[in-house]
Amino acid sequence: MSETPYSYDAPASQALFDRAAAVTPGGVNSPVRAFRAVGGTPRFMVSGKGAWLTDADGREYVDLVCSWGPMILGHSHPEVIAAVQDAVSRGTSFGTPGEGEVALAEEMVDRIDPLEQVRLVSSGTEATMSAIRLARGFTRRTKVIKFAGCYHGHVDSLLAAAGSGVATFALPDTPGVTGAQAGDTIVLPYNDLEAVQEAFHRHPGEIACVITEASPGNMGVVPPRPGFNQGLKDACAKNGALYISDEVMTGFRTSRAGWFGIDGVRPDLMTFGKVMGGGFPAAAFGGRADVMAHLAPAGPVYQAGTLSGNPVATAAGLAQLRLLDQAAYDKVDAVSAQIQSLVTEALAKEGVAHRLQTASNMFSVFFTDREVRDYEDARKQESFRFTAFFHSMLAQGVYLPPSSFESWFVSTAHDERAVQKIADALPAAARAAAEATAA
Ligand code: PLP
Repeated sequence: MSETPYSYDAPASQALFDRAAAVTPGGVNSPVRAFRAVGGTPRFMVSGKGAWLTDADGREYVDLVCSWGPMILGHSHPEVIAAVQDAVSRGTSFGTPGEGEVALAEEMVDRIDPLEQVRLVSSGTEATMSAIRLARGFTRRTKVIKFAGCYHGHVDSLLAAAGSGVATFALPDTPGVTGAQAGDTIVLPYNDLEAVQEAFHRHPGEIACVITEASPGNMGVVPPRPGFNQGLKDACAKNGALYISDEVMTGFRTSRAGWFGIDGVRPDLMTFGKVMGGGFPAAAFGGRADVMAHLAPAGPVYQAGTLSGNPVATAAGLAQLRLLDQAAYDKVDAVSAQIQSLVTEALAKEGVAHRLQTASNMFSVFFTDREVRDYEDARKQESFRFTAFFHSMLAQGVYLPPSSFESWFVSTAHDERAVQKIADALPAAARAAAEATAA
């Protein structure tokens, strides 16, 4: 399909991409996989083991995407695979309750104090969509505050871009979302508590909830400034709205209890996905028992799913969570810190202006010398430098997220060999970034 300077060395992936494009829009089942931000041929992966992926051309890569977060133990972890095989041998879906989903919910509730009850779903999108419906049903209010640059899945009302300024009503960000769906969403600049207070002031008794990424990773890594999440919680409490912390990305990744384990701010509702599914489609939302009691069949707010709590997915998620003890987090944090300093060192050596931002073991590199506090800042970076950096790393066998607005992810399986591969690739990639020019 796409003929670019970067497609030459992946003929098998290119052939698959061409086949895919004939039967799937853009050749992929989730847009970022198409490499549109960086150009070139997306690599079609055929297997993963530990920190390594192998593509259709038989090339190996150190994986710094980890399936966008879930694979915190690396690929094909033997104990997770064994749990999946055991579950599969007993059947794949029953459409009835089962013990696996109870055990997974218990493990989650045990780890996160404000999580009194959870409902399992199959994707992060479903989790945030359902949490918002529940918040609206519980408060009997319509409006939702979200922040520019925070991604909560492709929920209609959350696919809305900000205009500038305080309390801007959102315009739909994509065809197919109506003005009515986006019109109840108020999009505000991230890390701006004054904008939140102003929005509450302008819409007394109308705002059902504030939803925020616990620590955003979808505009690159932009952690909350000290006191920001507490300020959101306080503003919600004062105004009768619910505070929803979206931990789909940070949950069970940034610590044993996710971002809550780091900032200790108690949300009314939380959403989860990624790590808790062990590489399978399992996600969840939950929180205060008195709020969750409004969910069907206990209460009137409807929510359901044929594959919710699927026995194979819950077995994978439970096996993964049980392996994630403090030693595992220490290991992920340590290897993340090691890679972070290698990246900074290499870029500094070539004089490339950059800013490495972290949220526990999540991190990303912005090609700018200024602190990135919100989406506006993130968009000011020199993304063309990332493109050159990305392709150099890829050509040398290191698989980065194919966009400069994404977090990098590591796992317990990133051992010395994987780190060495990254260290060896960085000098040339940093040079490529330094030499890059805007198109
Ligand atoms: N919320 C956050 C913070 C996410 O990062 C994502 C996905 O990346 C979602 C929600 C949506 O999850 P899913 O892709 O499983 O629908």
